[in-house]
Amino acid sequence: MNNDDIIRRDLAVLWHPCTQMKDHETLPLIPIARGEGAWLTDFKGRRYLDAISSWWVNLFGHANPHINRRLREQLDSLEHVILAGFTHEPVVRLSEKLVEITPPGLERCFYADNGSSAVEVALKMSFHYWRNRGQRRKTRFITLASSYHGETLGALSVGDVPLYRETYEPLLLRPLIAPSPDCFHRAAGEDWHDYSIRQFAAMEALLERHHQETCAVIVEPLVQCAGGMRMHHPVYLEKLRAACDRYGVHLIADEIAVGFGRTGTMFACEQAQISPDFLCLSKGLTGGYLPLSVVLTTNEVYDAFYDDYGKLNAFLHSHSYTGNALACTAALATLELFEQRDAINANRALAGRMRAATAHLADHPHVAEVRQQGMILAIEMARDRSTREPYDWRERRGLRVYRHALSRGALLRPLGNVVYFMPPYVVTPEEIDFLAEVATEGIDIATGES
Ligand SMILES: *Cc1c(COP(=O)(O)O)cnc(C)c1O
Repeated sequence: MNNDDIIRRDLAVLWHPCTQMKDHETLPLIPIARGEGAWLTDFKGRRYLDAISSWWVNLFGHANPHINRRLREQLDSLEHVILAGFTHEPVVRLSEKLVEITPPGLERCFYADNGSSAVEVALKMSFHYWRNRGQRRKTRFITLASSYHGETLGALSVGDVPLYRETYEPLLLRPLIAPSPDCFHRAAGEDWHDYSIRQFAAMEALLERHHQETCAVIVEPLVQCAGGMRMHHPVYLEKLRAACDRYGVHLIADEIAVGFGRTGTMFACEQAQISPDFLCLSKGLTGGYLPLSVVLTTNEVYDAFYDDYGKLNAFLHSHSYTGNALACTAALATLELFEQRDAINANRALAGRMRAATAHLADHPHVAEVRQQGMILAIEMARDRSTREPYDWRERRGLRVYRHALSRGALLRPLGNVVYFMPPYVVTPEEIDFLAEVATEGIDIATGES
């Protein structure tokens, strides 16, 4: 197999995700033969540093020896079994572990096989909980501007990224949308804390007005990732938790992207010391190995479904690959690595290095902001740094950064005008410096200063 061969055969039969396929008339498709640690290698031996963890899933590197070993062992005993009426050791052990490490009160695990499906589960469970409790008026959800919760119709409904949403608008549920606490828009001299509190006022008003018809508020705690790595202060989550309790509305924390250490703590909710009613996890859950997702919830929610069969109160939702044994094994091996490597603590040094290596960009004439939460660092390019006037999306400035990075052996995949790093935790300080160098060159080229 060689690069050209596989590209030609690919373009004859595949349709790639989140891609205008016509772009590939001019944009090279990158075939990958092998992965090792933070690096991906093509069939000619060309290497790419995976700065975005292959869409935010990889935590401890590609072809991780420990996860590989655990998977090989599991493969010889059980690959998969139906999870209705049957069970297996990896799913039980993983559930015990997740209940132990997630915020207090989350005591039940319901599995699905990707992030969007987990969001669907949380939305349906919340709605169904209220119905089982006799509250049939509750049929709506509150979400934040710029939020992203996945691509299936229910998950897309509670998202607010126009690029993904607008086309399908006629098919979607109509959520109530609160302004984002995105601190990029804070006033001069205002800090994240105060701006986040100020932005909460509109959420509070929405809850006060609509709580009787609202099942749940859904949020991406601390970082709205797909919406452009938009960040807020934990105080927003504190206030939101308190308001949801006051108004009798569930809180769904979608930590599909930010969970498993990305924001500096194992779960982002920890920084606000809150427990949601539903916690959605996927992406890093299996260390980037296999599709798996889980919704954790409280026994209070679980009990509302626990009844005689004839009452028809059960949650009759399922996916064929629910709780797959190999995926659960990869997840357990990933959690072992967190302990073995003391990863959350070790990441502090890496996060500090990311900050230091990009500090100079804060003065770049076309950078409006460099922001960070733990292991996520984002650089927002702008036409005018003082007015923060953005570049028109049609100019595809981010794509220029992407192309440059590829030519230098790095996989950076900007979200519009936002260049970001979300690397696997096995990245080295030197590799972070290299990424910062490539990003700086890419931004110079993309913004026409070089
Ligand atoms: C990626 C993502 C999803 C969707 O997960 P998929 O596995 O891609 O369906 C949902 N919510 C957030 C916050 C995400 O980043």
